[in-house]
Amino acid sequence: NINPLNVLALEIESIPQARILPLTPGIADDLFEHDGQITKREVRALTLSALSPRRGELLWDIGAGAGSVAIEWMLAHPSLHAIAIEADAERAARITRNAAAFGVPGLTIAHGAAPAALAGLETPDAIFIGGGGSDPGVLDAAIQALRPGGRLVANAVTLEMEALLIARHAALGGTLTRISVARAAPVGTMTGWKPAMPVTQWSWEK
Ligand code: SAH
Repeated sequence: NINPLNVLALEIESIPQARILPLTPGIADDLFEHDGQITKREVRALTLSALSPRRGELLWDIGAGAGSVAIEWMLAHPSLHAIAIEADAERAARITRNAAAFGVPGLTIAHGAAPAALAGLETPDAIFIGGGGSDPGVLDAAIQALRPGGRLVANAVTLEMEALLIARHAALGGTLTRISVARAAPVGTMTGWKPAMPVTQWSWEK
């Protein structure tokens, strides 16, 4: 007597490249097509937590890179929408492929550089700045566009961007968090902690 569920499982396992996706944010980096410009898994999980999507909301993902933050936002609930704003044409095309591969083809892609590329987009409930945040006018435009009560989360890996976030925190409040992740890696015949670049995160509610 064959259990039909086992047959189904066998059929799914036999689909080439079938991917079983986890249900929580912080999906492994390599499940995304990327060129190295991707918010790393642990930082991404904390970023999604800070963005705290609620039913029906719209995210702007500014400097979307591979699109991983916008994609994980949309995966959190079918009612969620996102616009990925990306200046680089090759990366914008990659976001389209990642969105299709993760089953969120409804992700909107705005190819262009912020702040100009933000003009005319639907008012967001949350904004993530993962790139371009130190370009003139980007932080101001994001703060201005966010709906009152919405959340802004910005990540910095450079001192220049960190300085801008420290200034905004001093002026507007919110939360500054420093995220450091280290992973064990070979050191000769032994093992040591290999740190990733620390990320400074500013999280603010308008
Ligand atoms: N969070 C992304 C990685 C971001 S990397 C992910 O997880 O996939 C930063 C990105 O910002 C790069 O792709 C870069 O092309 C983009 N970028 C830099 N300045 C920009 C600007 N002014 N407007 C839009 N995109 C910008």
